[in-house]
Amino acid sequence: MKIAIIGGGITGLTTALALHKLGIKSTVYEQAEAFSEIGAGIWLQPNAVKILDWLGIKDKMLEKGVELKRVDIAHSNLQPVKKLKNELLQDEQGNRTIAIHRGRLQQVLFDEFSQYGQIELGKKYTSQSTENNKIQINFSEHQIQADMVLGADGIHSQVRQHLFPDSEIRRTGQICWRGISKFKLPESLMYTGRESWGHKRRFGFSNLSDDEVYWFAVHTIDGGNYKTDVKYIQSLFTDFAPIVNEIIGHVGFVHTAEITDLKRLKTWSKGNTCLLGDAAHATTPNMGQGACQGIEDAYYISNLLAQNNLSQETFKIFEQKRRTKVDYIVNNSWRFGKMAHSPIAQPIIKLLMKVTPEKVLTSQMGKVYSIESFS
Ligand SMILES: Cc1cc2nc3c(=O)[nH]c(=O)nc-3n(C[C@H](O)[C@H](O)[C@H](O)COP(=O)(O)OP(=O)(O)OC[C@H]3O[C@@H](n4cnc5c(N)ncnc54)[C@H](O)[C@@H]3O)c2cc1C
Repeated sequence: MKIAIIGGGITGLTTALALHKLGIKSTVYEQAEAFSEIGAGIWLQPNAVKILDWLGIKDKMLEKGVELKRVDIAHSNLQPVKKLKNELLQDEQGNRTIAIHRGRLQQVLFDEFSQYGQIELGKKYTSQSTENNKIQINFSEHQIQADMVLGADGIHSQVRQHLFPDSEIRRTGQICWRGISKFKLPESLMYTGRESWGHKRRFGFSNLSDDEVYWFAVHTIDGGNYKTDVKYIQSLFTDFAPIVNEIIGHVGFVHTAEITDLKRLKTWSKGNTCLLGDAAHATTPNMGQGACQGIEDAYYISNLLAQNNLSQETFKIFEQKRRTKVDYIVNNSWRFGKMAHSPIAQPIIKLLMKVTPEKVLTSQMGKVYSIESFS
């Protein structure tokens, strides 16, 4: 049985590693010619960290990143909306959020899988066809045959385009700038993440190492103009705590993208091909769960393929197990992003956060952090 994973991003590489752990061989096909340390930072929450631990690579992530005690929603002056008594936002096994450079995360996954499996770089998927149960996959310059395709090629997935050409990307009208700044945070902010809410704008940040700060800045433009230079971004945050502009001022490269997600697909698979991660259910980043859900997909699909037949029936079981949580995250994340920028809804959410008992908040997060045990 030849399994081809299209896309060597977080979802594709984690899936390959998870399959390997369970004794199933796969090959990853990635369009990039090489992996490099590009991108900004990412927060991996306890549900993802638990799976990285199961894969035996949590310690490597901790070596390259920073464990956060908590991530607070805050006012523009950086004061948390709710002072939680419980210092630790963690799952029942004690896994906390890890803030890590995306390039370093990707490198750990790549180095780990390279020891056991095959990653073919410079392979851009274009289409596929099936004959006698064999799938022919066409790349820009050559073809291969496989028995099963796992499409992990991101929000603009070509595999999805082939299976479901009517799929739609939804735009939010919010622009997100992200960067990494050479900057030393004060001790009080070293091990916490913050997302501060102002008028139609948000600024989030955390340490990535002793002298690197990952930050993101979000602004509603609704089709209007915007710029990508540092001075312009700083001008939008003059009414935030002064440290916000200091952090932005020390940035290296600024990544700019409109925040989007994928309109709910009716199904994630067709025949012997199944979509995973952003290719199947890209979410807005407002709950910081996109990559975490890709990592969960890797865990579930590998365990289900190991327990059941390597067949399309397993894809249906996979979807039954994953749908409810994924839909909850995509829908709530979309709403959360809209409400955070609404002058009417923002004070209401802040008030709700303030009055909701900590126990209730912890139990809501507990649902997001929980994953099924397959052993
Ligand atoms: C502003 C922002 C902040 C975010 N912050 C967080 C966060 O804090 N925590 C979190 O969990 N998530 C976060 N996310 C979401 C996260 O980035 C994505 O969910 C995650 O990167 C998806 O991983 P993936 O592997 O499914 O897709 P991708 O990361 O898009 O990887 C797809 C891979 O497929 C390759 N590929 C594409 N097309 C082809 C092709 N035709 N042939 C072969 N290969 C191909 C690409 O080169 C790439 O390597 C954030 C997203 C944004 C936009």
